Order: sequence, then structure tokens, then C-alpha cells
Amino acid sequence: MTTSGSVLAWIESRKAELTALSDRIWEYAEVGLQEHRSARELEAFARAQGFSVESGVAGMPSAFVASWGQGAPVLAFLGEYDALPGVSQKRSPQREPVQPGAPGHGCGHNLLGVAALAAACALQERMRAEGLPGTVRYYGCPAEETLVGKVFMVRDGLFSDVDVALDWHPTALNAVRNHSTTALNSAKFTFFGRTSHAAGDPQNGRSALDAVELMNIGANYLREHTIEKARLHYVITDGGGEPNVVPGRAQVWYYVRAPERDQVEDIYQRLLNIARGACLMTDTSFEPEFLSGCYNYLPNQALNSVLQQHMEAVGPNQWTEAELEFARRLAESFPKGQKEAGLKAMKAPPEVFDQLIHASILPYRDEETSGGGSTDVGDVSWVTPTGRFGVACGVLGQPGHSWQVAAASGMSIGHRGMLMAAKVLASAGLDLMTDAAKIQKAREEWQQRTREHPYRSPLPEGLQPPLHQLPSH
Ligand SMILES: [Zn+2]
Repeated sequence: MTTSGSVLAWIESRKAELTALSDRIWEYAEVGLQEHRSARELEAFARAQGFSVESGVAGMPSAFVASWGQGAPVLAFLGEYDALPGVSQKRSPQREPVQPGAPGHGCGHNLLGVAALAAACALQERMRAEGLPGTVRYYGCPAEETLVGKVFMVRDGLFSDVDVALDWHPTALNAVRNHSTTALNSAKFTFFGRTSHAAGDPQNGRSALDAVELMNIGANYLREHTIEKARLHYVITDGGGEPNVVPGRAQVWYYVRAPERDQVEDIYQRLLNIARGACLMTDTSFEPEFLSGCYNYLPNQALNSVLQQHMEAVGPNQWTEAELEFARRLAESFPKGQKEAGLKAMKAPPEVFDQLIHASILPYRDEETSGGGSTDVGDVSWVTPTGRFGVACGVLGQPGHSWQVAAASGMSIGHRGMLMAAKVLASAGLDLMTDAAKIQKAREEWQQRTREHPYRSPLPEGLQPPLHQLPSH
């Protein structure tokens, strides 16, 4: 293993600048495909470091690729920077929105994007100083929360020459887990009926809202006859205007998830049949609109064990009294027992149960697990070996996608997690760049696991990124 002192020192020396950058992105809190200011800031940082930047890739103005060096090996760091609607929050341990109803960084992507960029810069600096061969890339990936960015970037071939990719996510635990996510389809179903006076002329109306409701009933019956790990959820995005007008248009937005891609495709076809059935029952018609789909994450044990080694070498953060006090107050807002249940499910060692913020590192387990959520990192993992890990940037027991995460991501708990993640990424990146055997091992494992099921983009031919779905604020 090449000594990683210099990449760690680079991150330490730029600590203030990196923290300020993540704070600005935290303050912008831009939702998916609207992350223009966040993307421009990250691009400017990469350019100042000597990276060449291509903006607006794969048809998305807030997507970019920053690249430095030439030839093999090609190492990719994955960055995200989108916020979530409705979780606006001050740097405060009690619920206090900056602006009620506005977006906030409830998944910590302000930290995610900056740590990955810091790692890319630290590695590049070292490669330049020593004249090491290879290419370092930072992928600025928008709209992770809506499972859009990387799926379109993969389809456009932006990862086709990448040897290995490294990814991390802010969480409540320092852990490398071989944990797969679910594959997913995201689609809107718009029904069309005939408007009429709901009381005076109901016989002439055909309710599109009835079709939405009957489709949802059908989907709720479908649940019993899918594999147990499948997930279906929906929101009604248009239910008509006023009760006295039979709705001529109504719309429902569905996510279909399952552990594997072909399972999602099968359930999605059945859901289309349910929509057809709802039309027959209500004498309406419908149009499906496929927004995006993604793959499950394919763990790579070879890369993940390298990441574990470097996480242990970097070491976990220890927390100050002020941070622990902040955590104590935040933890008062979680339902009792939430932390214990989560840690138990993760088979965490006993000492973690007494901590407020994780201050150790979970031991590596090669056992593979899978869970309910989805990420478009999945698609990258099917086209190039991808290692992933989590770093504690918040309080044990915190709910995901929450104001509590937003609060911790904007203050020193999140900042210190971000810097630890940057160090793990940078030193693992340097290790891989200077040890061809490690990359080879990761690629062999990946080739073996994907041989039978080569990646096929979940996106229908010619589909464009759903820029028109942007919320208006
Ligand atoms: Zn996230």
C-alpha cells in the first residue's frame, strides 16, 4: 500500500475551504435537476485544481464530468448535491425551518458531493507531484433522489472507460456494508375522462379520479401476489379541481421496487394491466409516462474490503461535548427505541448502543444484505465495479430524509464526517491507482457477477431526462 500521508494532509490543509463549500451547497438546498448553483460551485473548485470540466452532460444542465490525467487506470469518484423538498431546517437541534415548506439537505448530499470532490483533488495533487499515470474523474451527478442523474449518464456511455468507481454516503454509522439496494421504476399515470356537473349532470361525466382510485385499489391487491421484498408506493399528483366538476384529468405517480431489475419489470407490466382495468371500469383512457428506472447496487467485495482497510487506517471521528449536546437534543425528537431497533437490525456491536454519534467503525462482514431503498449508484455498479461505504455525519437513530439529517449536515458533526469520508476515498483511491492487482481483482469479481446479466438501460429508447417535471420552487 502506498503511503497516503500526502493525500490526507491535502484534505487537512483545505479543511476550511471544503467546509465553506459544503455549507454554501447546504444553504442553496436545490432539488434534483435544479442544482445549478451547487453544480457551478463544484465545477469551479475542480477547474481551479486543474481539472477539465464538461458541463451539462447527458442532457442535464446540472450534470458534469471533471477529469484530470490520461490513460489507464481510470478511477471515478461519484458526487451528488441534490436536496429534498419540505425539510428546510436551520442549524438547530429542534424543528426550525429556514423557510417553511422549502427544500433542505435531509440526505446530506451537500457533504456527499464535496467529500468526493476533495478526494479527487487530493489524489490528483499527489499524482501530479509524483508523475503517476492514470485518470482521475469526478462525476457531478444531479437528481439522485429521483433516481435520474446516473441512469442517464450511464446510458450516454460516460462510464464506459472507467476501471473502478468509489462512492460514499453520509449516514449514522461508519461502515462498509455489502448492502444491495432495490431496483426501481418511476412512472406517472395520467387518466382522461369527461367533465360534467357532478350533481346536475353526472350521467355525462366519466371520472378520471375514479380511475386513479380504482388503479390504486388494484395495486393494493397486487401486493399480496408479488415477491415479499417488492415495494409499491404512490402519490396522487392531480385529483381534479372542485368537487362539483367530475374530474376530466387525474394523475398518480408510482414507484415500483424489487431486489432485481427483471422483478421490477414484471411487476411494472402487471401495474400497466391494472391501469388498463381501471380504464375499462370507468370508461376513461390513460397514458403512462416513464420517468426513470434504476438497477440494484451490486456490491464489490474486492473494493469494499479495500475501503474497510482505509477506513480503519483513517480512524473514526471522536465528538466534542458541544456536538454530543447537539446530538442529545436532536435525539429527543426521535421515537423511543428507533435507534436500538436500527442497530439491532444491523447487528451492531454492543458498545455502539451507548453512543449518541458513532465513534467507532463497524467490523467488515462479507455477508451480503439487501434493503428497501434505491439509488442510481446501482446503474454505475453494473457497468463498472463500484465500492461504497457510509460515514457517521449525524445522530444514531435519526430517520432518513429528515430535518434532523438536514440540521446535522449543516454543522460540525456533518463537516467532520465529510472530511473523514474524503480521507477514506482519497487514500483508497491512491491505493487502487498504484496497485494494478487490486483493480484487476475488483474487475474479475464484477465480470463474473455481470456475465449472465449484462446491463440493459431501464430507460425506454430515446427517453430524455424529465426536466419538465421540475417543481416550480
Ligand atoms: Zn442520499
